[in-house]
Amino acid sequence: MTGERVLYGVAASPGIGFGHALVYKEKPMGSLEREVADPKLELERYHNAVETFCRVTRIKADRVSEMAGKDQGDIIRCQIAMIQDPYMSGQVEGRIAMGQSAEAALSASCDLFIDIFTAAEDELTRQRAADVRDLRGSMLRLLLGLPEVDFSALQPGTVLLAEELSPSAVSVLNSANVAGIVLGKGGPTSHSAILARALEIPAVLGVEGRVLDTSTGETVIVDGNRGCAVFSPSPEMRTVYENRQKDFQQLRASLRVFVGQETRTGEGERIQLEANAGSVMDANRAAGYGCDGIGLLRTEFLYLDRTSQPGEEEQFHAYRQILAAMRGKRVTIRTLDVGGDKNLPYLGQIKEDNPFLGCRGIRFSLREEDMFRLHLRAMLRASAYGKAQLLLPMVSDVEEVRQARAILEEEKDSLRRRNIPFDEDLPLGVMVETVSACLMADAFAKVADFFSVGTNDLTQYVLGVDRGNARVAQLYSYFHPAVLRMIRHVLHSGQETGTQVSICGEAAADTALTPLLLSFGLKRFSVAPVALLPVRKAISLWTREEAQAVTQEAMSMETEEEVRQFLLQHEKK
Ligand code: PEP
Ligand code: MG
Repeated sequence: MTGERVLYGVAASPGIGFGHALVYKEKPMGSLEREVADPKLELERYHNAVETFCRVTRIKADRVSEMAGKDQGDIIRCQIAMIQDPYMSGQVEGRIAMGQSAEAALSASCDLFIDIFTAAEDELTRQRAADVRDLRGSMLRLLLGLPEVDFSALQPGTVLLAEELSPSAVSVLNSANVAGIVLGKGGPTSHSAILARALEIPAVLGVEGRVLDTSTGETVIVDGNRGCAVFSPSPEMRTVYENRQKDFQQLRASLRVFVGQETRTGEGERIQLEANAGSVMDANRAAGYGCDGIGLLRTEFLYLDRTSQPGEEEQFHAYRQILAAMRGKRVTIRTLDVGGDKNLPYLGQIKEDNPFLGCRGIRFSLREEDMFRLHLRAMLRASAYGKAQLLLPMVSDVEEVRQARAILEEEKDSLRRRNIPFDEDLPLGVMVETVSACLMADAFAKVADFFSVGTNDLTQYVLGVDRGNARVAQLYSYFHPAVLRMIRHVLHSGQETGTQVSICGEAAADTALTPLLLSFGLKRFSVAPVALLPVRKAISLWTREEAQAVTQEAMSMETEEEVRQFLLQHEKK
């Protein structure tokens, strides 16, 4: 195909890359079925392949750890655990014993896992299917004696196009040679996307349209900021993108100055800037940018991608590891927030017509008390190894906090009796993310030690707009004056009652809102690790007087559109 065309997808790794297309098409492997004379020998062949796979994968993982960090290496390393998983081995070995070839047995067993993951409701688990496909491909190549495709030595200025690219393929890419990645499948939470970000290779994933209808050698611009790829760009488009690339590089460089710095306003007032984390990897990344702690640890990560709930020991070790990564800085651990769009098959959650208004967060925990107690015990025990505080999600009534606190006190008693150490003064806070928690903030201040405003949910509950429904996505906006008045109300209520308030929803990370949040009196922001530097910079650009002037005008407006346009015009970056 010739002539300029643009394909759109998901912005999975930021940056702008110029290069020449290299189209990668996976070759079909042919039939995997064949006559097996001796299942015992076949089993031996399989075990030899597993051994080689583990050895090669370990080398790859160590290389990634060295280049991009241990957590990124673990993404590759998890395939070793998968192939050695007793359920997986049992499946493959059982099929071989029944007379199947090792290739057919492995492929069928992998399909089983791929089907389970693909059917999951949450995006993260669905993305794990790609890891199993990756493992299957590598194992089959070993068993069939086919060579691995070598992605490590591509020509400088290569833009890699494929339907899907496995995490192990991305892990060997050299960012000096690969200008960008464009894939038909995958999303921002896929392991390939995480690795592309770690390697700083611009990437667009989940591209609608036919990625593979491209000629190798065609010029491509990958826009990992906006989530699109431009093929055979016109000279005008090239100039636009050359300028955007320059701006992006300047912005990246200007943000580097803020790594490890304290967060202060234009006048030098100290502001706490914490990070949201959904994994140990996030906590490590946040520590790398420098932050005042973890303002929101989403504990759901421990419960995903598995067939039974994590035990007390496993949870304890994970929380302790994150507390250690923060080296004495505070970690706000949120109790399990399932329900809504997060359903875990093994928890026996009942399908609800309106799950976002259903048995979510604290409501679920109070129903499943044994599970909640185990969860709290793990957090309490971890609290002896750093500075922790606990946070309850989806609270709508003061009574829920009283009940949760009573259970917490009982678990503290039981630990005390067994001489197991924990932090006696562990604070317990509530997420302000329902309208009732917001309006009743003065009452909640009597039972909670602190507030954390979850603007992602607050926005949907205030506006009556489902946060995950694309048909009403244009109505979902924290720039709406009603949402802003709610946020202001919680902050003022916090000041009146002497309760610490932080904001951990996405609104805290939007630098167009920084002057408003500062003027409302916000002293604690909690944002995704990638937003730490932009927000630190934005805060440094505002003085109280300037922020107040902008806030006064914005808060006198009546529509979302007016406020958004006005704030975007006045945004400082
Ligand atoms: C929120 O609702 O703003 C929030 C931070 O929590 P989550 O996005 O996990 O629901
Ligand atoms: Mg929420």
